[in-house]
Amino acid sequence: MHVERPIEVRAFRQRLLAWYRQSKRDLPWRRSRDPYRIWISEIMLQQTRVAAAIPYYERFLERFPSVLELASAPEPDLLAAWAGLGYYARARNLQRAAKTILELGGFPRDHASIRELAGVGDYTAAAIASIAFGLKHPALDGNAIRVLSRLTAEQGNIASSVVKKRLVAFADRLIDPRHPGEFNQALMELGAVVCVPKEPQCPVCPLHRLCAARLQGREKELPLKVPRPSPIEVEKQLLVIQKPARILAWQRTALSRRLAGFWELPEPEQLPAAKIGAKIAVFRHTIVNTNYSFHVYRASAGRVPKGFHWLSTKKLNEVPLSTTAKKALACLARREGDLRYGE
Ligand code: SF4
Repeated sequence: MHVERPIEVRAFRQRLLAWYRQSKRDLPWRRSRDPYRIWISEIMLQQTRVAAAIPYYERFLERFPSVLELASAPEPDLLAAWAGLGYYARARNLQRAAKTILELGGFPRDHASIRELAGVGDYTAAAIASIAFGLKHPALDGNAIRVLSRLTAEQGNIASSVVKKRLVAFADRLIDPRHPGEFNQALMELGAVVCVPKEPQCPVCPLHRLCAARLQGREKELPLKVPRPSPIEVEKQLLVIQKPARILAWQRTALSRRLAGFWELPEPEQLPAAKIGAKIAVFRHTIVNTNYSFHVYRASAGRVPKGFHWLSTKKLNEVPLSTTAKKALACLARREGDLRYGE
């Protein structure tokens, strides 16, 4: 790497911060240093892209403008505000952490205490500590890791903990102690808009004179790609069982490993007496490394076993519905030209 000497570290910080101040995107969470708002944005961005997160972020803060409202929200409201973002453990952890913050009498103000909150890992604690409280902790998301691995022409696997530690130590030497929050955001922003995965924009990059990968002409090769396991294909069936203005559904228990508390449409294995009728549609849905094809059928239930409920159309729009149930009902609505369900 070419920025190890003090004078080069200074040049690195100046170039990066000058570029960031001039070019940064105007994102809603960048307009505030309120730790509550920064925390919510960081949790949402853990598994959601920036453009997709913005409307959720704004609606969530309208519904829960402070820790108090979040801590005391009924769970169905919380899950409904999160519906569509996926990974619902994040919403539940937000509420657990909000209760802890109330018990503490305010948002914790140092990295170790922030790290103790439910759902907060090293990266999120460093991002909140640096952006909200101006503390010098490098926060490396996937974008920042890519930038640093190219700057240093890192040869190892960036998914390995050894390489991550090396990059964190490197970032620790580079981070600007006077503007740590801005520095962290600048590095992540550079990775998001300039030092992008496939076609890094080196000619317009403020760091191109300091970048080892660029100097070696290897910017597109790095970081090294580690082959992903091939996805698994799974077929499933969902049943739409109706009576006038009602649909049969069931609710996952609070102990369910996935989507606890969410409502689902029945599957044939749950209703052995059901008579399966015409196919309504097929849709695809991916969860981690599994590609599901859901075949949606009309059916009649026969005897309805315990645990199933006839939900009115109004109720269906109020309860937290799983994404697959929503997609199936949207197929039904399209088929019937009826917008009461889904969409
Ligand atoms: S010069 Fe190119 S590879 Fe190096 S940090 Fe900038 S965009 Fe990334």
